Amino acid sequence: MNHEQSRALYDRALSVMPGGVNSSVRAVRPYPFFVQKGDGGHVVDADGNRYIDFVMGYGPLLLGHDMPEQVQSAVQQRAAEGPMYGAPTEVEVELAEFVTRHVPSVEMVRFVNSGTEATVSAVRLARGYTGRDKIVVMQSGYHGAQESTLVEGEGDHTAPSSPGIPESFAEHTLTVPFNDPDAARDVFDEHGDDIAAVLTEPILGNYGIVHPVDGYHETLRGLCNDHGSLLIFDEVITGFRVGGLQCAQGKFDIEPDITTFGKIVGGGFPVGAIGGKSEIIEQFTPAGDVFQSGTFSGHPVTMAAGLETLRYAAEHDVYDHVNGLGERIRSGLQDILEEQAPEYTVVGTDSMFKVVFTRDGPDTFEGHCEAGCQQRPECPRYDHCPKDGGDVKQAETERWERLFWPAMKERGVFLTANQFESQFICDAHTAEDVDDALEAYKEAI
Ligand SMILES: *Cc1c(COP(=O)(O)O)cnc(C)c1O
Repeated sequence: MNHEQSRALYDRALSVMPGGVNSSVRAVRPYPFFVQKGDGGHVVDADGNRYIDFVMGYGPLLLGHDMPEQVQSAVQQRAAEGPMYGAPTEVEVELAEFVTRHVPSVEMVRFVNSGTEATVSAVRLARGYTGRDKIVVMQSGYHGAQESTLVEGEGDHTAPSSPGIPESFAEHTLTVPFNDPDAARDVFDEHGDDIAAVLTEPILGNYGIVHPVDGYHETLRGLCNDHGSLLIFDEVITGFRVGGLQCAQGKFDIEPDITTFGKIVGGGFPVGAIGGKSEIIEQFTPAGDVFQSGTFSGHPVTMAAGLETLRYAAEHDVYDHVNGLGERIRSGLQDILEEQAPEYTVVGTDSMFKVVFTRDGPDTFEGHCEAGCQQRPECPRYDHCPKDGGDVKQAETERWERLFWPAMKERGVFLTANQFESQFICDAHTAEDVDDALEAYKEAI
């Protein structure tokens, strides 16, 4: 593969953009390929190389790179009529109605412009609603580039994980390991009266894909109920992907008080949203007192793209298709690992998948989850598969990033840039794409 154009573009980019990119994760070593265009389930780079794309914009592209006719014409019409106005439009109401109709816990929704903005606003809302300051997050959970959740450390011994964030922000953030009900109980025993909210992804999607153990979300739900705290599900990745239109909360049958959305709900354009019970969401200004505002919020082009994408998914067998291929790739990967790397773990559900390069495994492959770790206690892998972000960090992350990722790229398969980020099937992928990717995995693992 020739990468001369990408190399030259990166050279120029390094002079004018920090690290040569606009989002850190894109700066793969030694340099990223620059995308020229998307094509269904593939991308083509500046040198004309073609890749099967499992990055899918890091999650937003449920349908792949070719917008169906109804999405394309809605987007073009909105853009042609003047992109935005500073006054409300019908399409915002229609998308809000669609979301509240399908997502079990959501009665009202406020649209914003990114997942980060959604989680920032959700935390402010929870603090405003409860009159409390502390929030509980999962160690190594990811909620965007926001001050309150960029923390490291355990329990109440937390510190900012980036320069530029005052220590005092981290003072109000408590951390617990995902999937550890006892740690959650302990933190509520000590700080329960001060906790505004627990903020978690229903499935960790930015840290290896970690499925919840049975009963974990019920424990969090119960603790929040007992202490007057709110449960916030960050469904920025899982929303309209896991569990289809009802999202992960429908799949797991848990009703959070607040849900954050992003990615798919904007159909590939910049978006975020905060949804929940009316009583809580109406605390946002101008209905209530918790300040929330944005020039671009509810942007008509984004709203049209999100609405038509979700309508298309509702009217076609999109979720059956992507989930079926998800199962095909996860079970294919399982077969490859059994032969070549029995210590590694296949993770993921619905249209999310990843191989975590775990360092040890059980002696037998019998009785394993067949298409991605579901944290079944009776599985022989149960004690070896990652239970939280810390376990994923212990995997062979350098091997994944420095040897495996480039080997897949050279074989025409575009994966997310490190061990931690989820990969995605889209509606444009075919069984042939999956089988081609499995051949590449066979050679590269
Ligand atoms: C991507 C993501 C975010 C941040 O969204 P941006 O649009 O990148 O700001 C927040 N939470 C989760 C779970 C995400 O996956």
